[in-house]
Amino acid sequence: MSNQKVLLGTNWKMTKTLSEGRQYVKQLREIEQQLSDQIELFIIPSFPHLYPLKEDVQGTSINIGAQNMHWEEKGAYTGEVSPVMLKELGLDLVEIGHSERRQYYNENDVDVNKKVVAALRHDLKALVCIGENATDKTMNVGKEKVRQQLKIALQHVPAEDVDNVIVAYEPVWAIGENGLPADADYVAEQHDEIRKLLVELYGNKGVETPILYGGSVNKRNFESYLNCQNVSGLFIGRAAWDIDSFRDILFTV
Ligand code: PEP
Repeated sequence: MSNQKVLLGTNWKMTKTLSEGRQYVKQLREIEQQLSDQIELFIIPSFPHLYPLKEDVQGTSINIGAQNMHWEEKGAYTGEVSPVMLKELGLDLVEIGHSERRQYYNENDVDVNKKVVAALRHDLKALVCIGENATDKTMNVGKEKVRQQLKIALQHVPAEDVDNVIVAYEPVWAIGENGLPADADYVAEQHDEIRKLLVELYGNKGVETPILYGGSVNKRNFESYLNCQNVSGLFIGRAAWDIDSFRDILFTV
């Protein structure tokens, strides 16, 4: 881990009602006051909860982001949310290309690129998720896969915009209930490869881009990931959905 701030965040997916989310945020506010200012927290709730939760975190440094967005500003896209709408809520963070979006909603690398470009155009930070699947890993093409995903995601993104990119490396085989936690050595190698690509694309600017790790992170293994040189923070699912479990991690970082 470099000496930049440590980014720690959670994607709630479709797991909480608004009242559950508000209760969680109330407790997280108390925790946040006791944390080092080297830690930056973010939460990615469901769309209908963005506005109330944005209000609930006022006066704290907890950031709220969206789980997805469309690349167009407006139009006949039933069920979609545009970057302009997110900006109007006062948001500055959007997650793009989570593996579940790719798997269940057929998002491909080109869609991800369109969303990244649109997010940056609207001054939203793009949290770009990449990661190889189990077959890629077995076939030993995990490095090539993440390079390809990231290279396409960052097409037409100039160096002056890369400050607003955060990469989340989330190997698909390590995510969720059927996921197997990755070895820290493996994670370190993948993050080094991602850093290498960012430097190839953006020179010195690529050294600064945060690269988060996500996939079955829990209180027993999180330190092993944070100890890797190119891991700038963690993107946590299940182990952060319960505030007590997240607290255990936050107070040990
Ligand atoms: C995820 O789904 O992005 C994730 C990191 O989940 P988990 O931590 O539960 O594996």
